[in-house]
Amino acid sequence: MSNLTEHLIRPEIQNLDAYQVPDAAGLIKLDAMENPYTWPEGLRREWLEALQAVHLNRYPDPQGNELRAVLRASMGIPDAMGLLLGNGSDELIQILALAVAQPGRKILSLDPGFVMYRMIARFAGMAYVGVPLRAEDFSLDLPALSAALEKEQPAIVFIAYPNNPTGNLFDADAVVRIIEAAPDLVVLDEAYAPFTDRSFLPRLGDWSNLVVMRTLSKMGLAGLRLGYLAGPNELLAEIDKTRLPYNIGVLTQASAAFALRHREVLDEQTQRIRGERSRLFARLSGLDGVRPYPSETNFILLRVPTGQAGEIFESLKRSGVLVKNLDGTQPLLEDCLRVTVGRAEENDAFLAALASAP
Ligand code: PMP
Repeated sequence: MSNLTEHLIRPEIQNLDAYQVPDAAGLIKLDAMENPYTWPEGLRREWLEALQAVHLNRYPDPQGNELRAVLRASMGIPDAMGLLLGNGSDELIQILALAVAQPGRKILSLDPGFVMYRMIARFAGMAYVGVPLRAEDFSLDLPALSAALEKEQPAIVFIAYPNNPTGNLFDADAVVRIIEAAPDLVVLDEAYAPFTDRSFLPRLGDWSNLVVMRTLSKMGLAGLRLGYLAGPNELLAEIDKTRLPYNIGVLTQASAAFALRHREVLDEQTQRIRGERSRLFARLSGLDGVRPYPSETNFILLRVPTGQAGEIFESLKRSGVLVKNLDGTQPLLEDCLRVTVGRAEENDAFLAALASAP
């Protein structure tokens, strides 16, 4: 590393590993929780026609007002709540962190959990505290959490509901206990909302320190980059000051509004993914030496025989299937792989490759 780089870049950034996105060229891509389905031809044509009315020479609507109105109606966001848009929910995590960051302030979340909470805490110069989930079933360890909330006094608690990378949904009463015990803000990250029937969105307003974050990525629009945050108006108005003015481009605003007006197509795809999830889970449960964990998301976490995750991951890749190898990332994820639910034929290819892996 050059002298300039070494003295310029903050040590905590130098010590970070960059977020890795593996090359998936030529592989069946079951590593990133994407929706595997495309749109019917007629709908694609209609979408392209709608885009012709978009003016690329103009800046986007800074508030995304039309899109926000469509989102409110489509997602049932309570009228009294504020709504903030992000370039993916990743950006919303960053906007939240920037709004609260001060020396000594902390972000608390659960481990294993979504890695961006930890990374963004670091970007914003905040400390990150990870409270371990229970090893048996990845449920919340309430006594440990209560003690950590008391001791650490985090400015923000992030809870992914359902959780990534474990796939389970935490007990709702336990989540309520955390909201009530947290000294400040609690963000429920409902990125996987399309794949579960539970949500705290209708309960927004019951607690002044609760906000709910969602994304369109998992319901089929990962390429658009659109996340949203709903919560009390006064709080969101302050947080909004750390958002860059034109964070959602004109193409995303127009395309997301168009897609949500045809939500039945996305919902039908989501239903198919849920059906495939059940089938994949049942098939995995029948394999010797493989333990799949129950999932309320569009992926399944599985544990393979001790010490074999790396070899199985490589073998799957040689067979043309890319999954995520979580072994070595976190103590509770030893021997674990995560597979996104794909199309039936993709899941079959994965199952066949897994069955013939060493
Ligand atoms: N939250 C969770 C729990 C996630 O798993 C992900 C993506 N893997 C995100 C947020 C970020 O999603 P996006 O930035 O695509 O909206």
